[in-house]
Amino acid sequence: VEAWQQVPLAPPDSIFKLTTAYKADPFPQKVNVGVGAYRDDHNKPWILPVVKKVTAILLNDPTLDHEYLPITGLPEFISAAAKLILGSDSPALSEARVASVQTISGTGANHLGALFLSRYYPWNGQPVVRLSNPTWANHYAIFKNVGIAPNDYPYYHPVTIGLDYDGFLGALRDAVPRSVFLLHACAHNPTGVDPTEEQWAAIADVMLEKGHYAFFDCAYQGFASGDLDRDAFAVRYFVGRKVPLLVCQSFAKNAGLYGERVGALHVISSTTEEATRVRSQLSVLQRSEISNPPSHGARLVSLILNNPDLFEEWKRDIKTMAHRIISIRQELYDLLTQELKTPGNWDHIINQIGMFSFTGINPTQSQALVDKAHIYLTANGRISMAGLNSKNIRYFAENLDKAVR
Ligand code: PLP
Repeated sequence: VEAWQQVPLAPPDSIFKLTTAYKADPFPQKVNVGVGAYRDDHNKPWILPVVKKVTAILLNDPTLDHEYLPITGLPEFISAAAKLILGSDSPALSEARVASVQTISGTGANHLGALFLSRYYPWNGQPVVRLSNPTWANHYAIFKNVGIAPNDYPYYHPVTIGLDYDGFLGALRDAVPRSVFLLHACAHNPTGVDPTEEQWAAIADVMLEKGHYAFFDCAYQGFASGDLDRDAFAVRYFVGRKVPLLVCQSFAKNAGLYGERVGALHVISSTTEEATRVRSQLSVLQRSEISNPPSHGARLVSLILNNPDLFEEWKRDIKTMAHRIISIRQELYDLLTQELKTPGNWDHIINQIGMFSFTGINPTQSQALVDKAHIYLTANGRISMAGLNSKNIRYFAENLDKAVR
């Protein structure tokens, strides 16, 4: 067949490529800080105890079958997921202004949200999404796939290894009215740098002034601080201020359900009637994309969210993960600053939040870590704290120290 002669060979995904190289490396002390998935202190994937419990409940439930879910998803999952991110006392929920749809995890929520915007958003000119510089690389592909052009806004400041607050606010002010800004709700990937509550307030002010739209991506609720409510601050605050917005929600990280693809898209409207129209169109789009979302993961999360005891247990599991990461940050910081006296300022290691940290090292130093120390990380110097543990943290710190000297 001649059909595919013009197909160029695509490069492999850089993160998955890193994982393959790590797996193939026989060096005993090798370290993988590239991957964005939680690992326990033994460097093993962690099945949350509460997930084990609800899996057993599902297995023994004789009433369950494999019928299709509704197009918009499992109703008791969707309503509980909306409460989780928006807060059970959310005015948007009590006023029935939220259109929620179950999606293929956070990626699917981003895609469906982008697709919906591409069709119905009242664009001021060509469809453009403003993305933080840097952002999760997949955001570029997801928006381009639906004909929305990505355009950066300043976010990370390489000198302070923190937020470029003035640059960010300036971009909000200078953008054409009704621009769409993608915002990471918490635990910004890849930098680990989040605005403070005061900064979020100022961001909301400008967004309201300019009539901008907030496209929130929330992949790490609970994972950042260990507290589900605290990590939902920005989203709830923006809803309270009536900034027009949608939220993409993922249960991959906070429930450790990566492969089950559990997520949701919530579009907030100004009236119930508007929400009904939005939901109807989301449903039409979903039908042609996936017809019906998968049931297993949604059932697991639904059991956890709708049972008070299981919900409390989940919160404890989330704290276990978040606190391990927070303590690893502290340990790494102490090793670098007190013991090794590594040159430079390392405050960002403890100031950044979530699984990822931007170390501030350059691509040459990153490559040296891969080549000389068998420490696998992306060229941008991002490390996943989850890849560090009591056994490898000293090896990692000593080699990071060498790389920057
Ligand atoms: N958004 C961000 C910022 C992420 O970091 C991720 C995962 O790495 C996702 C969305 C979506 O992940 P998933 O599709 O596994 O829920």
